Amino acid sequence: MEIAYQDPRAFDILPYYGEFRNKAVEEKFLTHNLDQGKSQLRLSLIFCSSFYVAFALSDISALGYTSEVLTLFLARSLVAVAAALAIYLSYRRPSSLKFPALAGTAVEVVGMGAFMLIAFYRHTEMTLHGMSIAIMLIVVYLFIPNRLIYSFGVALCTTAIFLLVALKVGNLKTSDIFTMSMLLVLTNTFGWVASRRHHILRRDEFRAQYILKQQAVLDHLTGCYNRRHLHDHLLQQEIARAQRKKLWLTVILCDLDNFKLINDTYGHQVGDAVLCNFSTLLHKLTRRHIDCVVRYGGEEFLLVIPETDQIGGVDVAERLRVAFAASSASGAIGQTISMTASFGVVAVNFAGVEKIITQSELISSADGLLYEAKKAGRNYIKSGQL
Ligand code: GH3
Ligand code: MG
Ligand code: MG
Repeated sequence: MEIAYQDPRAFDILPYYGEFRNKAVEEKFLTHNLDQGKSQLRLSLIFCSSFYVAFALSDISALGYTSEVLTLFLARSLVAVAAALAIYLSYRRPSSLKFPALAGTAVEVVGMGAFMLIAFYRHTEMTLHGMSIAIMLIVVYLFIPNRLIYSFGVALCTTAIFLLVALKVGNLKTSDIFTMSMLLVLTNTFGWVASRRHHILRRDEFRAQYILKQQAVLDHLTGCYNRRHLHDHLLQQEIARAQRKKLWLTVILCDLDNFKLINDTYGHQVGDAVLCNFSTLLHKLTRRHIDCVVRYGGEEFLLVIPETDQIGGVDVAERLRVAFAASSASGAIGQTISMTASFGVVAVNFAGVEKIITQSELISSADGLLYEAKKAGRNYIKSGQL
């Protein structure tokens, strides 16, 4: 799906989620970032779980070699196992858009649960744990890639449960509890604001990139693909595909008849409107996401029609010719302007024959046929095979 990027609301962002309002746009963004997001997730999970296990040394130094230390070591190992499982599954589900956020959240929940056990057993160091939890909240908000709403949920629940544990077993002064709560509220607030800013910035960057890419491949007036895109990607790609799969490929070159006269009689603006009408018709009467409509020159358009033979190509051209001749535009003072177009249709059958056909051969053949159609009196179709 192409995003209607001219629509000012197409890239609206939900303020509390830091995600695109339009689900299809958000999906496009996630797809665009999928590989990078997954490798960031793997790296951050390896990093976090290694630290989690390494900090078992601090359990030993605080509690000695006791059964509690063994329990804590198992809890820490569980975090590493959850991280390893998430990493493994991220390879097994390479194209799932939802998986990275769910996996990140699951490991965060296991990690935070294990930490509550640590705080419970090492209850004499509650202020130190307050510091640790603040750092872990920043990790949840900013380091482990996740949806803002999930990070927020995990961080808020962790904060509430930790404060309850601190109240129950921390043996802290009321003023300490108060300060700790304030610090954690501060961490959550800044964490959320920074994470939201990060989510929005990445989406702004995606929007700018998307618009630039679209502008590089589309014609500004008609919204058709431009000639650069045709030569750089489109045609080569379709020729290669047809060659590989041994299919037919048809190219139709269309040219508006006596278009200069329209400009000279009614002005350029009316001429522009006629070009837009024609391109709308081309899009309407061809297959979406299969056929490609290119503005080849001023009033020349080129259609790339895959898996279509000469008869099929002529059929498309005939439908376009009849529809355009039957349509009309209106001039500045309400006059009705009738227009016609001529078509050169060239078809290639790649089945069986190992043909090497270049882009320029295909286009110049369609151009030759178009020239014949013009010579035959305009509002006409000429076709052939290469
Ligand atoms: P033919 O039937 O032989 O194709 O005649 P024609 O008048 O259509 O062809 P010609 O090549 O003589 O004129 C093409 C005209 O298209 C000349 C140019 O001013 C006009 N044109 C090219 N690009 C644009 C555009 O973007 N907008 C407008 N309004 N006119 C354009
Ligand atoms: Mg013309
Ligand atoms: Mg022309």
